[in-house]
Amino acid sequence: MLKGLNAVVTGSTSGIGLGIAAILASKGVNLVINGFGDVATIEAERARLAARYGVKVAYSDADVSKPAEVKAMIDLCVDSYGSIDILVNNAGIQYTETVDKFPIDKWNAIIAINLSGVFLGTQAALPHMQARGFGRIINIGSVHGLVGSPNKSAYVAAKHGVVGFSKVVALENAGTGITCNTICPGWVHTPLVQKQIEALAAANGITIEAATERLLVEKQPSRQFATPEQIGELAAFLASPAAAQITGTAMPIDGGWTAQ
Ligand code: NAD
Repeated sequence: MLKGLNAVVTGSTSGIGLGIAAILASKGVNLVINGFGDVATIEAERARLAARYGVKVAYSDADVSKPAEVKAMIDLCVDSYGSIDILVNNAGIQYTETVDKFPIDKWNAIIAINLSGVFLGTQAALPHMQARGFGRIINIGSVHGLVGSPNKSAYVAAKHGVVGFSKVVALENAGTGITCNTICPGWVHTPLVQKQIEALAAANGITIEAATERLLVEKQPSRQFATPEQIGELAAFLASPAAAQITGTAMPIDGGWTAQ
């Protein structure tokens, strides 16, 4: 159903973005992957996705907070494959501290990457989608776009911003073949969360296993992580014809976190 479509997935060298990229590739979508990391590792992953799923995969090292680099990443997709049909704005970072001590540079970085990066990618992709009358913009928000948690002021502000921004994009493009939605994951076991588990273990003098259990019990009633592949399958559904009338929504995939 998605075979032959062309997608950019930001922040897809790791975690959720890599999972989304693999699911889209498995459904025949050509990809531009993006993100930071070891050059040889990224090239190996790029080649693996292309060989395993028989799709075209290019890599952009764009920093999603830099307008010219984001435009070049979108242009790479359009110039290489002829269109951009799916944009997954996934790149994100985290930093935890109370508001009174929150470092201003960390605040600015989280807003620039997690919120402004979504705007920049969307703004660069929209004219191409509007010209063809088709597009799927899928933003990776968070449960923290719907509820708060202590010590995550910048992240919660950015993710609430993504949910609101997506609604506006949905409304401005309603009826044009372009949809825009936010996926709101709860805990997913990625490097971003592993850092928080290690901090919890260190702060409480407990093992990694005990910290992992505590993290889940505190917020996620299922006591199980959501997986990058599950988020990839939801993204693929949102890109499919069946989801043509789903727009402006914020969809939790959170083991019950926001049902409480
Ligand atoms: P991760 O750290 O495993 O991956 C983040 C990716 O973003 C990496 O590929 C990294 O290189 C890339 N990246 C970081 N800064 C970038 C920049 N300036 N420009 C381009 N790429 C950049 O993290 P993850 O857990 O997979 O998170 C992915 C997204 O999912 C984020 O938006 C995060 O907020 C969101 N999320 C994660 C969880 C979770 O539990 N892991 C829950 C809810 C939402």
